[in-house]
Amino acid sequence: MKEGLHPQYHQAKVVCNCGNTFETGSTKENIHVEVCSKCHPFYTGQQKSVAARGAIDKFNRKYGLS
Ligand SMILES: [Zn+2]
Repeated sequence: MKEGLHPQYHQAKVVCNCGNTFETGSTKENIHVEVCSKCHPFYTGQQKSVAARGAIDKFNRKYGLS
């Protein structure tokens, strides 16, 4: 992680919806994300069905489908 060139570039605390927190370089101090490398379906392959189902439910509700 390189630091220093940009005055406002610092370690940002990232908080994920899954509760995981980690730090990354950013111009923001705090970042909130919905998925991270620990819970993103691409990485875990486990919560994929849960996440997909949630998205589908949301979609269905939005469009009046059941
Ligand atoms: Zn996460």
